[in-house]
Amino acid sequence: MILEVVKYGHPVLRERGARIKEITPAIKGLIADMFETMYESKGIGLAAQQIGQALQLTVIDVRGATDRPSTLELDGLTADVDAFMPLVLINPKITPLGERVTGPEGCLSFPEIYADITRPEKVDVRALNEQGEQISFRAGGLLARAVQHEVDHLNGVLFIDRMTAEDKAELRTDMDDLHTATKKALAKKK
Ligand code: ZN
Repeated sequence: MILEVVKYGHPVLRERGARIKEITPAIKGLIADMFETMYESKGIGLAAQQIGQALQLTVIDVRGATDRPSTLELDGLTADVDAFMPLVLINPKITPLGERVTGPEGCLSFPEIYADITRPEKVDVRALNEQGEQISFRAGGLLARAVQHEVDHLNGVLFIDRMTAEDKAELRTDMDDLHTATKKALAKKK
């Protein structure tokens, strides 16, 4: 089922996600719906907050982004990124490493808003997968960027928080308009 993607201005985007204690059929159903929603929206990542649920859960699939490379290491060995996709991260813990690099980012909760964001180039990730198994890997390139962007969501952090002051000033009107439109739509629903 395709779910509505929550837009900037919805308070759930600022909520820290609760840890998932058990991977119930409801959680598995949510994961399937999140993938369907992400693919429909042509995104490469989607966090639970973005479909209105403050949980430590995100889905990622970078295979759609053929113009921006990703790297993957499993147990210190280079591994095939595509074969590792799609990716479900439950209760993820990340350790960023490497130099900070700047690259373009967008977010499904901020339609039409893009900016360059500086983040560490690599990240070590530990999480549970959909089967509840512990997984760990080192990501680089676009995958590292996607993981960091999504884990930010799980902590209520948005990419606008990491924009330069100049970009933020330039995008201020668009962001305020989106925020106002979301608040209006929410008030109507009540
Ligand atoms: Zn996002």
